[in-house]
Amino acid sequence: MIPRHFPEEGRFSPFTYSVGLESSFAEAEDAMQNYPLAKPVSAATLASFLESLTFFHEAGHVCQFISTAYGLRALRYTLVALRALSKLPGLKLPILKNLMNVGRTFTPDELRVVDASLLFLDTIDQLRFHHQVADGSDVESEQIFRMDEPWVPHFFVYGEDDLLKRREYAEELRKTRNVHVRTLPHLRFERRSGIHELVVTAAALMEAYGIIVELNHVFNAFTSDAEMAIRALPTRPEYHLLLDYALAVGACEPRVIVPTMAILIDAALMYDPFVLYNVPWDVADAEGRGDRYPGQTFMELCAVAREIEPIRAFSPEVLQRFYRQLCERAGLPDPEWMAQKSLEVAQGLLDRNPGEGTLLYRALVAHRDALKLRCDRGLTFACDLPSTETIYQLVEIALPAMSFYNLHTRLPEGFDPRKIDAVSVHSILFQAIVHPTMECPLRLGNPFFCASATSPADKLCVWRWGDGDQSECLLDVLEREFELVSEE
Ligand SMILES: [Zn+2]
Ligand SMILES: [Zn+2]
Repeated sequence: MIPRHFPEEGRFSPFTYSVGLESSFAEAEDAMQNYPLAKPVSAATLASFLESLTFFHEAGHVCQFISTAYGLRALRYTLVALRALSKLPGLKLPILKNLMNVGRTFTPDELRVVDASLLFLDTIDQLRFHHQVADGSDVESEQIFRMDEPWVPHFFVYGEDDLLKRREYAEELRKTRNVHVRTLPHLRFERRSGIHELVVTAAALMEAYGIIVELNHVFNAFTSDAEMAIRALPTRPEYHLLLDYALAVGACEPRVIVPTMAILIDAALMYDPFVLYNVPWDVADAEGRGDRYPGQTFMELCAVAREIEPIRAFSPEVLQRFYRQLCERAGLPDPEWMAQKSLEVAQGLLDRNPGEGTLLYRALVAHRDALKLRCDRGLTFACDLPSTETIYQLVEIALPAMSFYNLHTRLPEGFDPRKIDAVSVHSILFQAIVHPTMECPLRLGNPFFCASATSPADKLCVWRWGDGDQSECLLDVLEREFELVSEE
C-alpha cells in the first residue's frame, strides 16, 4: 500500500528550540490532509502526505520536549549553568578544564560552576543520538544483546572511551567517594544487514517516539494494519531500534504499538528524579533514591509491561489503566502526580525568573504551558500528542520561543530576535565550558544564519526588529556579562 520508505527530511535540535524543514511552514501546512486518504491514493496525494509526515515527526519532538519532565530538566540545568557563571565573572576558557587544573580545593562558587558545567554536558549528552553500525555479513543468528554500563558525569573530565576502564573508575568513585553511579543501557542488534549499537539516551527515546508519531498518522491515513505500517517505516533503521527491542522482548504487540510505546516512552521521560524530587546529582538520598537516566527507566518499564494486561482497546479508560499499572508495578510515582509536580516546578522557575528580560523566559513559559496542557488533558496526553490537533496546540504554545527555518537556505522564517536566547544560549554555554575560544553560532549557520553572517568577523551581530529596535548578539552579551576570557 505504501510504495516507498518515508524520507527523513527535517531536523530538530532541543538546544536551539528550532525545527528545520525542507519546505516552509505554510507549505507543510498545505500538505496536510484529511484522514483516511481517499482511495485510490494518487502519487501527488502520497507525496503531500509524506511531506506532512516530516513536519509531524519534527514538530512532535518539540511538543514532547516542552511537555515532559526531561525537557524541563534540560532547561533547568541551562539556567543553573547561567546563574553559576554570573556569580563568578572573569573565568578563562575552556572553563571546565581550567577549573579542574586549579590544584587546590574549590571555593563554593567554583564548585558550583564545576557542578553546573558537568550537569550541563551530561544533559547535552543525553539529548544526543549515540549509534554505530558495523558490517554484519558474518552474523550467524540474529540476536539482541543488552548491557547496562555505569555512567558518571566525571567521565567528561577524565575522558575514557574504554568500557572496562570506565567500569573500574566508576566502581572506584562509588567505593572511595560514595559517588552515585547511574546506569546507561547499551543495546547491540546483531543482524546480517548490519550490527547496530545504540545507547538508550533520552534522544533515542525521543526518536522512537518520533516514529510513533509517524505511525499514528500512517494508521489514520491508510487505515492499514500494524504489520504493514511498520514495514513501511523510514529507511534509517536506527530510529526504530527501540521499537524493535520492545517488540522482541514482548513489551508490546504490533497491533497496539502506538499507544503502548507512547506510554512507555512518556513514562520514562516523565520520571525525572531531579525535577520531581530535586535529588543531588552525585549522591543517593537517605531512601536510596538517586538521579536516573530515562533509558534505565525505559528498560524497567519494558520488563514490567510484559507482566500487566496489555492494551486491548483504544478507550481512554484502558489507556489510563495501563499507564497507572505500569508506573505502579515499576515502583514509579503515579503519572498524574508526576505531571502535576513537573508543572509546579516549571511555575516555580518562572516565579524566580519573571519577565522578558530574563534569559530563556519564553522557553520557560512554553514548558510551563505545555505541562499545564498535559495536566488538563489527563493520562491520555501521551497517546493524544501525535494527533494533528494536539501537535498544533503544542506548537502554538512553543512558537514564542521556537523557530522554523529552511534547511536549504539555512534562513529562519520570520525570525523574532526576542528568541535569540532560546536559539543560541546552549551553543554559547557549551563552547565556554569546553572550547578555548567562542564563536557566534548564528554566524556559522547553526542552526541558521543571522543577518550579520556575511559581515566581517570583527563586526558585532545585530538583529533589527519592530520599529528600529535592535538586539545584540547573545555571544557579546554573555562575554561581557560573565567577563569570559578566551585563550590566546
Ligand atoms: Zn527525529
Ligand atoms: Zn551573533
